[in-house]
Amino acid sequence: MRLVLLGPPGAGKGTQAGVLSKNYSLMHMSTGDLLREAVKNNTDVGVQAKVFMDRGELVSDEIVARMITEKLKGADAKASGFMLDGFPRTKNQAQILEQALTDLKMPLDLVIYFKTSEATILKRLTGRRICRSCGQIFHITNIPPKTEGICDVCGGELYQRDDDKKATIKNRIKVYNEQTSELIDYYNQKKMLKEVSGDLDVGELYSVFKDIFKKAGLK
Ligand code: AMP
Repeated sequence: MRLVLLGPPGAGKGTQAGVLSKNYSLMHMSTGDLLREAVKNNTDVGVQAKVFMDRGELVSDEIVARMITEKLKGADAKASGFMLDGFPRTKNQAQILEQALTDLKMPLDLVIYFKTSEATILKRLTGRRICRSCGQIFHITNIPPKTEGICDVCGGELYQRDDDKKATIKNRIKVYNEQTSELIDYYNQKKMLKEVSGDLDVGELYSVFKDIFKKAGLK
């Protein structure tokens, strides 16, 4: 199964992808995670990208497209299928993706759109905490860790992303509305779009996904 997870920041794409990749043989590829890794390692790409990420703006299509196509060419993507989380985010990125997947003979099966209310987005983003070591996602009230500030999975320190602070969140939502939301129509016209509710909690949405996968013949 080859999927794109589409939706605003805070829709729960990363959290759901984490659950799905543990239960199904599907690779989770997040451009946000790849970029944060590059920032952490202080690579050239990381240094360039950080300026845009801190402002809640999009990094250049070239940078993210290169990162994703490298991953797609790997043996794992072919063998197990994948979920793209946070990519594509512009029509140009969608076209680059389509070309890359055609070349690799791995066409997309579905684009799952997480339709999410603004109230949910704000609550999720302001309360989100991430493990510095393993990347596990928590939320101060929705998915609290057993011990405050500590990751349940690996004992690492939890932190708040710089771009999850109020001023940047507003801009990320604006950027989503201006540059990414048109992909809903784009994929709808291609009859590839399936809508789910991003307002559901992790477990409820997982049940919806299980149904979608069952219908698609994926165990
Ligand atoms: P995310 O973790 O998906 O919320 O992404 C965090 C930030 O990384 C975004 O606000 C952008 O600055 C950058 N980013 C992630 N994915 C992309 C993409 N596909 N195109 C451009 N910038 C991206």
